[in-house]
Amino acid sequence: MVLSIQSMPAISLPTEEPQQRIREAMQSVFGFGSLRPLQEEIISSILGGRDTFVLMPTGGGKSLCYQLPAVLMPGLTVVVSPLIALMKDQVDKLVTLGVPATFINSSLGYEEARRRQADVMTGKVGLLYVAPERLMTPAFLSMLAAVNLSLFAIDEAHCISEWGHDFRPDYRALSELRVKFPDVPIATFTATATTDVQADIRAQLALRDPFIVQGSLDRPNIRYEVWPKRDSYRSLTGFLASRSGESGIIYVQSRAMADGTAARLTRDGVRALSYHAGLEGEERHARQDLFLKGSVDVMVATIAFGMGIDKPDIRYVVHLDLPKNLEGYYQESGRAGRDGQAADALLFYSYGDAMKHEHFIQEKPESEQQIARLQLTAMVEWAKGTDCRRETLLGYFDEQLLAHPDPCCDACEAPVLEESDQTEAAQMFLSCAKRTGEQFGAVYLTKVLMGARDKRLLGNAHDELPTYGIGRGKGREEWAHIASKLMERGYVKPDAERGNGLAVMPLGDEVLFRREEVWLPKWRDTSHGGHGKPRAARRLQLSAGDSARESIEMFRRGIELHEIASARGFSPVTIEGHLAQGVQSGDVDIEDLVNSEKRAAIEEAFFNSGHPALKPVKEMLGDSFSYAEIKFVRAGMNASSR
Ligand code: ADP
Ligand code: MG
Repeated sequence: MVLSIQSMPAISLPTEEPQQRIREAMQSVFGFGSLRPLQEEIISSILGGRDTFVLMPTGGGKSLCYQLPAVLMPGLTVVVSPLIALMKDQVDKLVTLGVPATFINSSLGYEEARRRQADVMTGKVGLLYVAPERLMTPAFLSMLAAVNLSLFAIDEAHCISEWGHDFRPDYRALSELRVKFPDVPIATFTATATTDVQADIRAQLALRDPFIVQGSLDRPNIRYEVWPKRDSYRSLTGFLASRSGESGIIYVQSRAMADGTAARLTRDGVRALSYHAGLEGEERHARQDLFLKGSVDVMVATIAFGMGIDKPDIRYVVHLDLPKNLEGYYQESGRAGRDGQAADALLFYSYGDAMKHEHFIQEKPESEQQIARLQLTAMVEWAKGTDCRRETLLGYFDEQLLAHPDPCCDACEAPVLEESDQTEAAQMFLSCAKRTGEQFGAVYLTKVLMGARDKRLLGNAHDELPTYGIGRGKGREEWAHIASKLMERGYVKPDAERGNGLAVMPLGDEVLFRREEVWLPKWRDTSHGGHGKPRAARRLQLSAGDSARESIEMFRRGIELHEIASARGFSPVTIEGHLAQGVQSGDVDIEDLVNSEKRAAIEEAFFNSGHPALKPVKEMLGDSFSYAEIKFVRAGMNASSR
């Protein structure tokens, strides 16, 4: 069986005890804060005595998958590795950690090798690294026959296959292992194996119904989304409303939160239970059973819940609180959709949660703080990020995403919507740069725009400029965002000859003097809540304001655009804007504004231009299309891309 997209490992963990022991060894022996994705499953499989086949990217952390079980299992683990140089490194490291490890290979003199063999015989060694040519000698094999063996771990297992890129004839002899030691489980590890090579490895070593952990960490059927954590219970029930009868896990930080949330959901008609380590063993089992059987839809749980739970049809995993690292997040969210069917991973992010973790970190021993902080930073950046979540999540584990599935994540779905007309702000900024002589940077210009009582600014008499204080409607961070986007897109450029002051480029002049529109990614206030709005909020946000609503109502009653304008005392352009809002919110039918032939042409032109600005499209289409028509169609495209 394969643990990746399709299915769940058939390992059954009768109690939480193995997990506990794994975690303890991970921390106390190896000093890691958490397990990487898949490590837990692999280690559990090995501890369960099962043959295990691991295909995992380089750097994925394969070594720990046999080193940790070796520490926990009573007998000897033999590690076969092709690289003599690496053996010494690994063994040195393990010895430093206090693990009784050693290696035997051709780099040792006869006496030393004898001495180490004696240590193996007397049970002083728990982890023995050996090169295949040495291992398969009759003398060595008969020595091993006399000791208690727990596991053969074959690293770089692709070396066994002639079809692999690194075939080593010495590895071929390993096929005798199963014959000579039929009762000792075998675990194989490789980062690179085509399907053929994989099959060859399994056949050569005669693996028995191996637990297969394969390759990519991507879970293409999971759609990732992050919502700001405000009024999270309400958002949660909104999310659950369309999912009644489906199985899901809601992870929370504390036992009290688990109990409280489950109780509240129950009152609100959701079949929910809580689960955490504070419950009696029997009660925990009972609740787990109810969830597995489907008598309960939602498990509100701490991270004590989940490992070894064989429930393939979990349709969503919600994190109501921020996990402390992406390792954990990957693992927990990955419990959704093991059956390969569409599933959701939803995370609520708040700055406050990040601060809480930061607080916990400060209470940790100094030696653990640095890693924990790096992990937290990565978690927070991921949650606040605006790039594809799948790509960034895999990227964190050094895997490159090859294709974006559809649906993929909120970030992938957002860009069309999130680019907005920011001409006015751009004009302010550019004009401010011009008027101050193009010799100041973004921070200074922002101070002018925001009307700061800054000494340097006052000394330059820049408080007398017409642009002084005109940007008070926006915060410092939003101006920083606008400045960086204007730079990125070539409207302004730091001029080294003027102390890196921002010079206005020809593109910027067009904005100032030819009223060219400026479209920039919307700024997102991530300081207290983050990005990705809930769908409901997005809708609200998009729905038309009061003034627009009135125009929309009139239009729906059959009144022409120009008549609405004169009746309301607005310019037709304003009413066009109102109706475009109506199109975007779904209140106005685009059909009533632009005929389908023209619509197709405009959509095509937007597609070709690759940018939401109106002007390039207008230029492509010529005089038989009006700006208004183009604007309406653009609104319609935004609506349907939601
Ligand atoms: P592989 O053999 O899969 O290429 P390694 O076993 O050499 O990868 O591990 C790569 C790196 O990841 C090593 O530096 C190892 O210490 C580190 N590592 C492995 N597991 C963890 C973990 N759970 N947490 C932090 N670091 C880990
Ligand atoms: Mg390795």
